[in-house]
Amino acid sequence: MGKLFVIPTPIGNLEDFTLRSIRILKEVKFLLCEDTKVSGKIKKHLDLDVKMISLHKFNEKSRVEEVLTLLKENDVALVSDAGTPTISDPGQLLIEELKGKVNIIPLPGPNAITTSLSASGLKFDSFSFIGFFDKEEAKIIKKIKKHQNSDVIVAYESPNRINKTLSYIYNNFGDVTIVVAREITKIYEEIVKDNVSNLFNKEFRGEIVLIIETKDIKKEDPLRKHIESLREEGMTDKSIINYLTKNTSFKKNDIYNFLKNN
Ligand code: SAM
Repeated sequence: MGKLFVIPTPIGNLEDFTLRSIRILKEVKFLLCEDTKVSGKIKKHLDLDVKMISLHKFNEKSRVEEVLTLLKENDVALVSDAGTPTISDPGQLLIEELKGKVNIIPLPGPNAITTSLSASGLKFDSFSFIGFFDKEEAKIIKKIKKHQNSDVIVAYESPNRINKTLSYIYNNFGDVTIVVAREITKIYEEIVKDNVSNLFNKEFRGEIVLIIETKDIKKEDPLRKHIESLREEGMTDKSIINYLTKNTSFKKNDIYNFLKNN
């Protein structure tokens, strides 16, 4: 039985292929690509002798059996247009289906999230990656609140929407610290760390990763404020639950979950 290699490709700079990924790409006979036109450039650049097979969100499910048949006698590599496959890119469904049936080998390599975080200038032990930001304000806010217990929240964002997203963040959470990492590894690479109010109406072009520091959001969370002041008074978790359910409109479940996680 062959192996399925999951191979990250550069997010802008072709020098960012690892030696191992180049070797494996040269060894495999079949390359599953998000877009054969995009990966065709890599095929040419590395002078690969592979047959490209498209694998994108619209045909991923129907490709599973075909890929399994190929894997019976061949090694196969999976790539996406840029960065690590499966990270807001095709491949999750295929790997879910093949897990346990074939050997799946992930290679480390380029990824916009970790590359941006590494030079963000933020201090963090934990981060939440939330994929692309939603378009609607209510959904953006809900998602940020859901992940605000991580030290930082990381999202992919488009240059057309970033200003709206920043204004929603400012309106709902105040002047929190944001990092905009754009065009990473490319000529116009820029990593800006500033308060959100200083980032409004700046023009950010190209591909963008947006990072939110959550420590100031937490201060603005009313449930957190209540619980912190009750804890300062020396109340136990049990009495905090009793007090808040009797005297405020916070849901018992939310209070319980907050106490459990903080
Ligand atoms: N799988 C990829 C990865 O590992 O990073 C991400 C794919 S996702 C469809 C594409 C998004 O990633 C872009 O819209 C942008 O938000 C972010 N991105 C990709 N390359 C980037 C770069 N060079 N600089 C900043 N953000 C980038």
